[in-house]
Amino acid sequence: MELAERATILTPSLTLSIDSKAKAMKAEGIDVCSFGAGEPDFDTPDHIKKAAAAALADGFTKYTPSSGIPELRQAISEKFKSDNGLDYSANQIVLSNGAKHSCLNAILACVGPGDEVIIPAPYWLSYPEMVRIAGGDPVIVSTKESNGWKMTAEEFQDAMTPRTKLVILNTPGNPTGSVYTKEELRKISEVAAEEEIYILSDEIYEKLVYDGTEHVSIASLTPEAYDLTITVNGFSKAYSMTGWRLGYLGAPEPIAKVIDSLQSHSTSNPCSFSQKGGLAALKGDQQCVADMREEFNLRREYIHSRLNSITGITAVKPLGAFYVLANISALGLNSTNFADRLLSKANVAVVPGIAFGDDRTIRLSYATSLDVIKKGLDRIEDFAKTL
Ligand code: PMP
Repeated sequence: MELAERATILTPSLTLSIDSKAKAMKAEGIDVCSFGAGEPDFDTPDHIKKAAAAALADGFTKYTPSSGIPELRQAISEKFKSDNGLDYSANQIVLSNGAKHSCLNAILACVGPGDEVIIPAPYWLSYPEMVRIAGGDPVIVSTKESNGWKMTAEEFQDAMTPRTKLVILNTPGNPTGSVYTKEELRKISEVAAEEEIYILSDEIYEKLVYDGTEHVSIASLTPEAYDLTITVNGFSKAYSMTGWRLGYLGAPEPIAKVIDSLQSHSTSNPCSFSQKGGLAALKGDQQCVADMREEFNLRREYIHSRLNSITGITAVKPLGAFYVLANISALGLNSTNFADRLLSKANVAVVPGIAFGDDRTIRLSYATSLDVIKKGLDRIEDFAKTL
């Protein structure tokens, strides 16, 4: 019997497969330097763990409203206002099982068979697959290294057709580390507004910006942008809570309602006591976020300057997230061959850019210790000389 097309057209996550190969080598006792991680290497701050543990001990173990507990939705509403200049009331917020789930909900709400979705590449690898799950067609727009791997409003306009329904923006970006400026977002929002294209703005790396860079929420720019945008965020990256599975979105009320309904018939609420942890994260001292950012920043400076000192490798300085995208095309290998050889010959794990729609690059995550980063870069330097 045949399976549904929607299930069989998907490709397994390449980032997870490289990671498991590196983990298997480590289990064999091989000293692998892994730049594959997609999650902060810090523990969840203690006050957040304690709040969830107390909730568990108090028996807060039952269903909650599908879109989340009212006090957390209220806290997120306040966060959107103070951090992002966005007016989403609590009933415009839907909590889900991670920002990944929020993105899927948003795409399922906006996209149907035959609809096109514009995705700038290099992209986070789940976006095109989510669009396919919804029956839509991803339209990939290649961006330029010289423009910091960001899509311009003109490139967006050129990719548009009468079938375009949604554009996906991710700032700060994975895998590029790029951060769109207010002006760039304003131009993109004007193009979207002219044709009434929905915008999915994935802002999960919002708290990880460096060099005084400002994070801008596109929905805050104009009333037209607000009406078209679904803003996604979550707890995984800012508070090192990847395993808690807690993310959220804010959207105009009619869209939030549809998403609430969709979720009420699929997964229902995200984990009850995770939500109490999320509440503690937002209400508690934000110093933990600043401390993690500080540590990431030291690593970012180091990894960026070391990569650029290697002949044949260039890397745009990332202004956000915890990744650096290195262009290795001058070394004469495509990204998969480069990553495979680097792992087998030099015991260094990176993610080939082909996973993100760009075969000239590799992604290095610096969510790992400075010692591992130093050792790994020594090995990459030696490996590059052999090519
Ligand atoms: N968006 C982007 C761009 C990401 O990199 C990730 C995590 N890799 C997510 C969303 C999903 O985060 P969460 O753990 O909240 O599902």
